[in-house]
Amino acid sequence: MSAKLLVAALSSVALAAPFDGMVEERGSPTTKAPATTVLAARGTAAWSGNPFSGVNMWANSYYASEVSASAVPTLGAGAEAVAKVPSFMWLDTRDKVDLMGSTLKDIQAANAGGASPPNAGIFVVYDLPDRDCAAAASNGEYSIADGGVDKYKAYIDAIVEQVKAYPDILMLLVIEPDSLANMITNLNVAKCSNAQDAYMECTQYAIKNLNLPNVAMYLDAGHAGWLGWPANLAPAAKLYAQLYNDTGSPAALRGLATNVANYNAWEIATCPSYTQGNDNCDESKYVNAMAPLLSAAGWDAHFITDTSRNGKQPTSQQQWGDWCNVIDTGFGTRPSADTGSDLLDAFVWVKPGGECDGTSNTTAARYDYHCGSADALQPAPEAGSWFEAYFEQLYKNANPPF
Ligand code: BGC
Repeated sequence: MSAKLLVAALSSVALAAPFDGMVEERGSPTTKAPATTVLAARGTAAWSGNPFSGVNMWANSYYASEVSASAVPTLGAGAEAVAKVPSFMWLDTRDKVDLMGSTLKDIQAANAGGASPPNAGIFVVYDLPDRDCAAAASNGEYSIADGGVDKYKAYIDAIVEQVKAYPDILMLLVIEPDSLANMITNLNVAKCSNAQDAYMECTQYAIKNLNLPNVAMYLDAGHAGWLGWPANLAPAAKLYAQLYNDTGSPAALRGLATNVANYNAWEIATCPSYTQGNDNCDESKYVNAMAPLLSAAGWDAHFITDTSRNGKQPTSQQQWGDWCNVIDTGFGTRPSADTGSDLLDAFVWVKPGGECDGTSNTTAARYDYHCGSADALQPAPEAGSWFEAYFEQLYKNANPPF
């Protein structure tokens, strides 16, 4: 069990009680004034051990406004409960970094008001040039051919500026969904092989510059049905460990994020037929297969897994690789650092439920055939925009229910 120390800043007055550091992980409900919220004079939200332990993930107002504008009028006030569950905020354009700033302001105000445990920011870094190289639905704003690497570095610099402006807030970051997994399995796609150098340079830049005391980062590592195949595990572990080692074993690089925006169970008793004989048919098996390979390569990594859309099992996926707006899915296990696994730091909701994976409009520039397949809910709007019918599906199938 890892002990942890979380120090957050606040007024020094509240800090009369001295604090000697290590505290029990995941305090029981009876724990008094959680030692995890003890404040440091220096005002830095540093951490050790599991960074999710002893903090409250922040439910941002951007997602709450999506829910209250669209879902509440249809489903009633009950839907508001979903907005209270913390979902990550995706910094999927440079503009969203400004929104990150206002979110941090909200967190700062809540923490200054005595929030206990203190709130931590949860964000996805997602703006690589030539983004989503093996699919079409989430093409981003930067292209490698048009100075995208430098633009990406400026985007990271802007995030770093926000992180440094709020040293008293812990930031829990997922780094670039899909990108490194594509480097393992999709180099046969021209856009991916062309992007390889840029992805590596940009990812290293992000890791090195975000290696700050109040940051914990998790590199996206696909899911069981992607890198969990026996043939993919070893090359994937090699790539992730190499990034860790090449960037100087950064203290802020805690591990890997799995199942982001995907649908796999954490643990499932019977492998669904669409998992096609892969023994690593759930995220727990995948994580437990990956961890020793990383350790052997010098990185004792930890994991987080996205449970935002894996509540209903099995899903109605026809192929395991079907990723777009899959039917018969539901909200899953609520975010928590209480995972029952030493390898798993937290169950998290990375994909904001109700935001679309990709448009089903075949004439759209970002149309991807997966979003038009029989197991994808349709009609669907552009990736990232609100998809009310999808939210309603997740809500109806939520497990545990709302
Ligand atoms: C979209 C992003 C969006 C994210 C979260 C991705 O598929 O491309 O724009 O922020 O999903 O909903």
